[in-house]
Amino acid sequence: MIAILKAGTSEEQKNNLCNWFEKMGLKTHVSVGDYQTIIGLIGDTSKVDIGLLESMSIIETVKRISEPYKNANRKFHTEDAVIDCGNGVKIGGGNFALIAGPCSVESREQIVEIAKSVKASGAALLRGGAYKPRTSPYDFQGLHEQGIDLLLEAKKVTGMPIVTEIMNVNDIDVFEPVDVVQVGARNMQNFDLLKALGRTKKTVLLKRGLANTIKELLMSVEYIMAGGNENVILCERGIRTFETYTRNTLDISAVPVLHELTHLPVIVDPSHATGISRMVEPMAMAAAAAGADGIMIEVHNDPEHALCDGAQSLRPEQFESVCKKVNKIREALK
Ligand code: PEP
Ligand code: MN
Repeated sequence: MIAILKAGTSEEQKNNLCNWFEKMGLKTHVSVGDYQTIIGLIGDTSKVDIGLLESMSIIETVKRISEPYKNANRKFHTEDAVIDCGNGVKIGGGNFALIAGPCSVESREQIVEIAKSVKASGAALLRGGAYKPRTSPYDFQGLHEQGIDLLLEAKKVTGMPIVTEIMNVNDIDVFEPVDVVQVGARNMQNFDLLKALGRTKKTVLLKRGLANTIKELLMSVEYIMAGGNENVILCERGIRTFETYTRNTLDISAVPVLHELTHLPVIVDPSHATGISRMVEPMAMAAAAAGADGIMIEVHNDPEHALCDGAQSLRPEQFESVCKKVNKIREALK
């Protein structure tokens, strides 16, 4: 349920109303916009007397929210969320960012060289996996803590905030210096991990699961937000369909659908969505045209010898071309 307050409601009146709701055992979520203040109510709202509420002088309207996701619901928030990614980089509400880097961190030379080149092309954040969720246990699993240290070195050299994936709830402390903690597709419904991240203030990039619906993605992000962490970004990375030509099927419509349902930023990963490097540029352009708040692309300085996902990785010069085209599309949309 949401209660929209009349313009001119004082801070004290708003607080009194919130206290009244909280005494009924409800949690309140206040969203103050330029034109409206909305109090979102979470919990069993069946006890709330809507007639009584509507009769209050400070109440404009009261609406029931039928969707099971509340904190993530656009109806709870008047404006798009702007998420802080560190070092002054923001995503959402008109702030667009390109995130680029290798699938996995392999060495100091590799990550620093790639970081420098993607920054020069226009990337705002550096990605790189340190803990890798691999289908085969015999494949490279990542450099773990050493990988995070190397990302931090690349950050020191370039000033770019870093994005890297967490797989295990027990590793949360290791991710303390990480700017944006990624929850990958395979862990989208690792509810213990989501709850643990909800207890932190870390910025979380939550990727859609391989076979999950948009509603399930929103329920997963609700787990993080219910714990009090609203610093979240959603990522469409392709879903599994009957099509086998591409690694996954990029659901571009997820961008406008999510923008309708939630105030949270939505980015697109065309690398894992297609699995084919030559498909990344057209899909990145499609993502920009659909209004994505950011795009995450795998870039490697030597894709043929990459320890992970070489076939979908762009060379630095190919990434530069993508940046230029994406910028042109964004200009055209203005
Ligand atoms: C990744 O971004 O490196 C990754 C493993 O992606 P996903 O979880 O989308 O498969
Ligand atoms: Mn990858």
